[in-house]
Amino acid sequence: MAPILRFAPSPTGRIHIGNARTAILNWLFVRKSDGQFVLRYDDTDVERSTAAFAAGIAHDLGWLGIVPDRVEYQSKRFDRYRAVADELRAAGRLYPCYETADELDRRRKRQLARHQPPVYDRAALKLTPEERQALEAEGRKPHWRFKLDGRNVEWVDLIRGPQHIDTTNLSDPVLVREDGSYLYTLPSVVDDIDFGITHVIRGEDHVVNTAVQIEIFEALAGKVPHFAHHSLLTGADGQGLSKRLGSLSIASLREGGLEAMAVVSHAALLGTSDSIHPCLDYRELIEGFDLAKLSRAPARFDDNELRGLNARLLHMTPYAAVKERLEHGDEAFWLAVRGNLTVFADIKDWWTIVAGDITPKIAPEERSFIDVAARLLPPAPWTSETWKVWTEAVKAETGRKGKALFMPLRLALTGLDHGPELALLLPLIGRDRTSRRLGT
Ligand code: GLU
Repeated sequence: MAPILRFAPSPTGRIHIGNARTAILNWLFVRKSDGQFVLRYDDTDVERSTAAFAAGIAHDLGWLGIVPDRVEYQSKRFDRYRAVADELRAAGRLYPCYETADELDRRRKRQLARHQPPVYDRAALKLTPEERQALEAEGRKPHWRFKLDGRNVEWVDLIRGPQHIDTTNLSDPVLVREDGSYLYTLPSVVDDIDFGITHVIRGEDHVVNTAVQIEIFEALAGKVPHFAHHSLLTGADGQGLSKRLGSLSIASLREGGLEAMAVVSHAALLGTSDSIHPCLDYRELIEGFDLAKLSRAPARFDDNELRGLNARLLHMTPYAAVKERLEHGDEAFWLAVRGNLTVFADIKDWWTIVAGDITPKIAPEERSFIDVAARLLPPAPWTSETWKVWTEAVKAETGRKGKALFMPLRLALTGLDHGPELALLLPLIGRDRTSRRLGT
């Protein structure tokens, strides 16, 4: 049976590099195994979820090259969750609780003061039907907790290896709020069962959830999927990324000019035993993909590293892949300047240097040297050999070599002390412009 995986963002905001990494790992698994990818919007929080965020997420995934086979919204499945909750109620696994948040808080503090674990004491389970009625007569509405088995839940995590969590140490989780709304826990399991999800790849912040959810899968006689929990991203300083997530949204990375495949390569290879290197398309990433390569240690995300990767990706990008995006210039221009781009938009500056108006930099003490060089300019047409022919002639005449020979020419021709190889630039700049820049 072909694997079925899901990526399950909450459309309460845009996805960031951390979510994208989860999505990409799921996508690579699907592509490697000829499986299916379900995009599931976890929008049970109807107040905070918006259609605009959902559309934004779909757009971001599309930009990353991820095309779901199926799209689902939890907000359209409330009837189904209600039916399942009733099933759990009938089986005695979902029980009503009437404590207010304040009461629970006080209870937790008392437990902590007595050095007891702050686990819900199941007081509500001991209520008699009369006591419940009395509470409801007071106007209290119940929230509903799932009664955990209180046992050692075990699974073999495809990243973390054998796991076991004793659910005796956990509070019975609230699955349904007082107002009848659902927390994420139950709908996620119901959907995973209904959509035939075979593998759940998600962040390790869900490890404890997994123990709880495995109990729910079993209570519903659903097939428990395989689980893989990847480590979370930290900043270069080892701290969590939470404060910077806005600027690390996929939308802002895109607007900042990064290439989709640079973001994909970075997210896919970060925290694996493979080196982080640019991949022009998914092929190599799919081929090399293996959950066993993911490290359990937190993966460090460094913006500078991503920008560096973007530059390396551009450096190896063939003309055919950018042809449509180039406003000016031909293949020779692309091949000349691609190695000097950090983001694609930098190309504008190089076009100006090739074909626009620049201010040549000619120091007064270099004036006579530049005059000699101008006099020795070879006749048109110019080719990639012209630079060599010209500088050999200038060298022979002036006796200059190395930096003393090349730098004044670069400064005069481009106004900059760095840039693409002049052998490639010179024929693009052409004889007329060169001659003008040299001041002749
Ligand atoms: N909406 C959940 C989240 O973004 C999904 C977790 C899961 O994959 O089950 O954390």
